[in-house]
Amino acid sequence: MNPSRRKVRAIHEAAHAVGCEFNGWPVKRVLLREERTVVAGVPSSTNGFTEALHPKPSIEFLGLLVGVALSGYGALRRIDLDRAEMEHHAKNTGLDWQTIEGYFEELHVEPGYKLAAIYDGVAVAEDILNNNPKAIERISEVLVQTSEINGDDVRRIIKEEQSN
Ligand SMILES: [Zn+2]
Repeated sequence: MNPSRRKVRAIHEAAHAVGCEFNGWPVKRVLLREERTVVAGVPSSTNGFTEALHPKPSIEFLGLLVGVALSGYGALRRIDLDRAEMEHHAKNTGLDWQTIEGYFEELHVEPGYKLAAIYDGVAVAEDILNNNPKAIERISEVLVQTSEINGDDVRRIIKEEQSN
């Protein structure tokens, strides 16, 4: 990954991590590296991964789950991306959409309710991003430097930024 692409991925993953904590789902670790995964039965590759103890998908948590998935996109609004990076990022974040589609399928969400669930998710993502911009920035800096951050360090940074 080139340096600016690393930064893009780091901000994206940092937003997922902060989103999980925001919802009360403890982060175990966040990785920044190329990895093969299977999402909704489809082999894919990702340049980052956030591991957290989130609840089993249910209608009750659907808005929160969609919000964490969407937060990765929204976090990048504050930085300038060139066209190549935007396209690259759009391909990668296809995984987040696949994840959301997977929730819809697993929970047999009615077509008419999908849009409502996405709106709920957008509101959750806005909350995550508006409440924690500095924590996302700092976590992304650690990721750029070390390619990995554990849950304790994620929580420490969020706490420090909240008390500032
Ligand atoms: Zn993502």
